[in-house]
Amino acid sequence: MVHSEQGASDDPGTLGDKGDDLEKRLKAYEGRPSAVAGAGKDPVNAPMIRHWCEAMGDTNPAYAGPDAIAPPTTLQVWTMGGLSGHSGHIGRTEAYDELLALLDEAGCTSVVATDCEQDYVRALRPGDEITFDAVIESVSERKTTKLGTGYFVTTRMDVKVGEDLAGTHRFRILKYAPASRREKPPRRPRPVVNRDNSGFWEGVRQHRLLIQRCTGCGTLRHPWLPGCNSCGCPAWDTLEASGEGTVFSYVVLHHPPFPAFDPPYAVALIELAEGVRMISNVVGTPHDEVRIGQPVRLEFQQCDEELVLPVFRAREEAS
Ligand code: ZN
Repeated sequence: MVHSEQGASDDPGTLGDKGDDLEKRLKAYEGRPSAVAGAGKDPVNAPMIRHWCEAMGDTNPAYAGPDAIAPPTTLQVWTMGGLSGHSGHIGRTEAYDELLALLDEAGCTSVVATDCEQDYVRALRPGDEITFDAVIESVSERKTTKLGTGYFVTTRMDVKVGEDLAGTHRFRILKYAPASRREKPPRRPRPVVNRDNSGFWEGVRQHRLLIQRCTGCGTLRHPWLPGCNSCGCPAWDTLEASGEGTVFSYVVLHHPPFPAFDPPYAVALIELAEGVRMISNVVGTPHDEVRIGQPVRLEFQQCDEELVLPVFRAREEAS
């Protein structure tokens, strides 16, 4: 989720020499409310739970039937204002608007949502009426990222039922001055490496394609997940793929053009010999000659000095 506002400055130097003074002014917002006296537009309810589970493909029986609970990760769902938003004083506070305006003035006109963390304290059930308050928990020191220079702003929303805390939702954004975009030729986007998939990317770096395997039931899975969708077991090990596969399906991308990509090109869903499927590119074959069922073999493409990607080449052409 990246949103660049109009009039964004290309000059990271806009932050200037007043950084220390600015940091003091930003820090003064820590602890101030960012939303007050929020209330869910609807009570926690079974239809929303059902729609959510269908959209997520989550068939856990705990979320259906007379004793259903809401999936924990729906915590934020019940706080949302929908298309029309929350009316009146509910929503973000003047303090939060002031903080964002201060960052805008300092040249940090772009914003990107970086991550969210949730803690679950008590299950939500159909009929629960939730309320919420949010606080500006922290404003970071000035940081320079690949996007530009700016400040991470973390808000923490406490969701309650009556006096009981049901859970907390921490949401972090980076407000930044965009770095100049014309410095270097465009590079392939970096994969998002997190604690769930870091083993996969470490394998790729070593030219090994690792498939995650549930040690509870033996089911193989890709992409990597923290637990098994078949038996729920969180324990896993890995199996190194043989590298043999076939094109299960593909699309040819003509539009829109993305930096570092040269359309038209084929994006393929490869079925590995081990049975799992992964999205990749078929290299060495013109985009209009990629075919469903085509046998392919894995190779590793060094895209630039730091990025290695697993790609596939039609087997007849493999040397
Ligand atoms: Zn399993």
